[in-house]
Amino acid sequence: MLRTELGISTFDDLLHHYPYRYSDRSQVTRIGFIDPRAEYVQLAGTLINIIEEGDGRKKRLIATLYDETGRIELLWFQGAQWMKKSLRENERYIVYGKLNVFNGVVNIAHPEIDLLNAETSIPGRQPVYPTTEKLKIKGITNQSFAKLTRALFEKISTGDVTEVLPVDIREQYRLCGRFQALRWLHFPDTEDHEHVARHRMKWEELFVSQMKIGRLRLKHTVQRGWHFEKVGDNFNGFFKDHLPFELTNAQKRVLREIRQDTGTGKQMNRLLQGDVGSGKTIVALMSMLLALDNGFQACIMAPTEILAQQHFFSISALLQEMGIPVKLLTGNVKGKVRKEILQELADGSLRIVVGTHALLEDNVQFKNLGLAVIDEQHRFGVGQRARLWSKNEMPPHILVMTATPIPRTLAMTLYGDLDVSVIDELPPGRQPIKTIFARDGQRAKVMEFMRKEVDKGRQAYIVYPLIDESEKMDYESLMAGYEQVKMWFNENTYRIAMVHGKQEAGERERNMQRFVKGEAHVLVATTVIEVGVNVPNASVMLIESAERFGLSQMHQLRGRVGRGAEQSYCILLAGSKTSDESYKRMQIMVSTTDGFRIAEEDLAMRGPGDMYGTKQSGLLKFKLADIVQDSGILEETRLAAIALLTNDPGLTMPNNQPLRYMLSQQGNQSQWGKIS
Ligand code: ADP
Ligand code: MG
Repeated sequence: MLRTELGISTFDDLLHHYPYRYSDRSQVTRIGFIDPRAEYVQLAGTLINIIEEGDGRKKRLIATLYDETGRIELLWFQGAQWMKKSLRENERYIVYGKLNVFNGVVNIAHPEIDLLNAETSIPGRQPVYPTTEKLKIKGITNQSFAKLTRALFEKISTGDVTEVLPVDIREQYRLCGRFQALRWLHFPDTEDHEHVARHRMKWEELFVSQMKIGRLRLKHTVQRGWHFEKVGDNFNGFFKDHLPFELTNAQKRVLREIRQDTGTGKQMNRLLQGDVGSGKTIVALMSMLLALDNGFQACIMAPTEILAQQHFFSISALLQEMGIPVKLLTGNVKGKVRKEILQELADGSLRIVVGTHALLEDNVQFKNLGLAVIDEQHRFGVGQRARLWSKNEMPPHILVMTATPIPRTLAMTLYGDLDVSVIDELPPGRQPIKTIFARDGQRAKVMEFMRKEVDKGRQAYIVYPLIDESEKMDYESLMAGYEQVKMWFNENTYRIAMVHGKQEAGERERNMQRFVKGEAHVLVATTVIEVGVNVPNASVMLIESAERFGLSQMHQLRGRVGRGAEQSYCILLAGSKTSDESYKRMQIMVSTTDGFRIAEEDLAMRGPGDMYGTKQSGLLKFKLADIVQDSGILEETRLAAIALLTNDPGLTMPNNQPLRYMLSQQGNQSQWGKIS
């Protein structure tokens, strides 16, 4: 039961099943003096009138507790049967629980209840453990946990709990021992103890994760890679004669970083972060030219067909005058054309290929892949990225590009093993996007506004939430929205295209292309278009039911406009029922276009759990630590891990053996490191 419900099957698991708060059970209140505003009370008295009421699912158990000052009802809605058997009338009990006020009368439902006799004492501070309804029904209550854990601590001593933090680290960072920390975490006598214990265990959690990252990084830095010795005619020629604009300083800096990395003889693993529209594509392209200059092939991989096509078109256009052939390989490329591409990749005559996951298929063999660029990486599964690894005798250099700005604290935890480059500057001449918040009631005005923009020759997006493609409601509101848009925009004058996840890929593709080519004025879409699409002529982004979107998602959507010289607009259209939190999100959107600020706010509001598709990664799951609130500890542990690994890279010193053992025991979470 404990195992299936909470994953507890050993004593060690029990030790690490931490209380999430403590109750103060040092005071006993007399029943007549209960303050109805108090949240929890502890009472001592005699139990009488134990009766069952109701039938079937409505069955409940009621009992009365009295002392010399008054009486109060205790209630059980679940496990009534079991409770009835275990309680005895006219015995004295000590009772602790949360007060309910019902019609001006107080009662306690599901209290903790214990016989009170000569041997029992008033408990004091008590741990409160996470538990489940199922366990409660079986009578495994919070007290059961406390008793089990207390009994366990009576049997063990310092020697039974292996200390994993080396002593010098404990001294330097003033951390208490592991046994003590665990005991105080469960049974702190004072708040101070609790604080000391919690701090130590959080520290350990973050330190262990930083050690894992640090060890991955060590592995990478010894990983040999292709040596790009020179900057040659492709790179220089493009830079001198074919670059359509002046590079921003940020773009130049990142290119320098990439040149340095690839010139060391070690494999590059670099994450390129740049807000939407910051100009990552050109950096990718020039890095690929660098690979060509050194006799290698290069590829760029995008998460969707549409994105791959866009890269393909823009890269072919840029390289056309130089006569460097580029080909597109996606799932839709079949038959003879495909065969030819595969042949050319294998014999090395095709040097630049743009594609989707199709590039990862086993029959795609490169002659000498020197660089793989991965765009919008958070859409790629970890395993898929890892497969690029096996394409060569030596791994290609890897450049991962993402438009999702990642707060520093999170980047440290997620990508600590990658080097990070940031494009923190937008190309000049961009007009900041105006963001407008509107209520559903103002729809007519909003539509009017959009029509005027379209009449000026621009295009507009209308995006509906579709969190889960299977959600029927969302789908219906999308369809209804589409019909409505067709009413607002006269069909004889305006052309409306629609894309969503339920369309067959080919159809979605065609509709999208109509918008990309400017044949459709308005694109009605779900978040399918969130990532990467580049239509510079689009100047309005209308987000429907904006209250349902997360901050980062809205920011990504907004980044679809403002790519041309025209003033662009993002309109957040919200329903009448918006929670405070969603209102706050929309206000943040209105107040800033800074992707990093938005990411920080998002992290603060949502916590890291479900951001960036990292939910399953395991790397962000800590029992106690919170990378936002504990960023100070995170920084300490990062430094400590670096210092330790500098001193003892292989963890061979006797002092470090327990830590090494623990790291080897804790499964291999190196998934993220396998990006390369
Ligand atoms: P993202 O980083 O979102 O992938 P893109 O690479 O698609 O951004 O670039 C967005 C737009 O900005 C493109 O139209 C591109 O041609 C243009 N661009 C990129 N760099 C510069 C620059 N240095 N100066 C002017 N325009 C640029
Ligand atoms: Mg892009």
